[in-house]
Amino acid sequence: MTRSPTPLADGEPLPFRHRDVVVVGGGQAGLAVGYHLTRALRATDATVALLDDQPTPGGAWRHGWDSLRLFSPAEWSSLPGYLLPRHQAGRDRAPAEYPHRDDVLDYLGAYEARYELPVWRPVHVRAVHRVPGGLRVETDRGDVTARAVVSATGTWAEPVVPDVPGLDAFGGLQLHSSAYRSPAPFAGQRVLVVGGGNSGAQVLAEVSAVADASWVVEREPRFLPADVDGRVLFDAATARYHALQNGEDPGRPYTLGDVVQVPPVREAREAGRLTDVRPPIARFTPDGVVWPDGSGEHVDAVVWCTGFRPALAPLALLGVVRADGRVETEGTRSVAEPRLWLVGYGQWTGFASATLVGVGRSARATAREVAAHLSSA
Ligand code: FAD
Repeated sequence: MTRSPTPLADGEPLPFRHRDVVVVGGGQAGLAVGYHLTRALRATDATVALLDDQPTPGGAWRHGWDSLRLFSPAEWSSLPGYLLPRHQAGRDRAPAEYPHRDDVLDYLGAYEARYELPVWRPVHVRAVHRVPGGLRVETDRGDVTARAVVSATGTWAEPVVPDVPGLDAFGGLQLHSSAYRSPAPFAGQRVLVVGGGNSGAQVLAEVSAVADASWVVEREPRFLPADVDGRVLFDAATARYHALQNGEDPGRPYTLGDVVQVPPVREAREAGRLTDVRPPIARFTPDGVVWPDGSGEHVDAVVWCTGFRPALAPLALLGVVRADGRVETEGTRSVAEPRLWLVGYGQWTGFASATLVGVGRSARATAREVAAHLSSA
């Protein structure tokens, strides 16, 4: 593979019209696939391109909030082949066990360069079409035909906000966690943080330090014990996954959805700032909310930490995306379109495949299948 001269200039078309393999998305999942494709196709003359619509490396991590830290330590947050350094040199921060978002951005940029991955950006893929002999990838920089396509578009472009009655009429500030940067705009306000997962806990931990904030959840948040970090969590979640696969009692208590007590969450919890837990909002009014018991109150702002769905719009014309927003796969390969693979996204494409440490396994299996497909066609 040859490294791409990116970023492309404004309006500059892609300098090729065909690649044997096109990977859509250049976040951590796309890079892991690129790494394994490099190896699986080493002895061939197959051509590969990764197309990513962001101006710089990092995928979703470019959009994380300012203080975002991983819940997994550096050695448990690495892509195949190259460990995430425990502390990036030259940064004005103390070494931290839990890498900062910017550490991941630096790491993913270094990863691309280290393995000379052919990432072309910014290139937005609009659609994938079936054509005789393969697939055509339609982009804003021209079309590319391919014999195989790997979709690794992640989820951040598709934030989910629940459909609560009256939401459109609410006049206060609303923000999804994908657009949240820092607590500063909420100082002194009455704020609801909606969502009982790790994002909700981390956002509430810092918003509650400057605002009158409550936590709106569907069920009581489950905090992992303070000494359970990403290492233990991944081990326990892996054991649980395999037990369930084998029809056995999972036995172990932790899941990847439980709240990890990263230092800011632990501090906020110890200070009693995560205790004002509320049930789901019954409906919005122009300046507040009504709770299920009928009582109402004024609210200035709502931060939705309510997750994402897979960003699969480019696959719409292939007719493979189900009503639940997923694609039926065997491993990572689409059942309905055997020239299409999907990597990342979540458990449905492989255990822990939405995490840095977990995506390597499904990326490797995908690269092997793609190589076999190319050699058989
Ligand atoms: P992305 O990073 O979203 O990359 C997909 C890329 O494809 C993006 O650049 C996107 O712009 C691009 N793209 C999308 N559509 C198109 C298109 N049509 N054409 C071209 N390009 C396109 N993981 C861990 O391992 N450890 C952690 O501690 C951890 N903490 C997290 C904390 C939070 C708050 C969140 C939200 C996530 C966390 N994660 C963590 C998970 C991880 O960050 C994401 O799941 C991960 O970024 C997904 O990687 P990806 O490559 O699948 O998608």
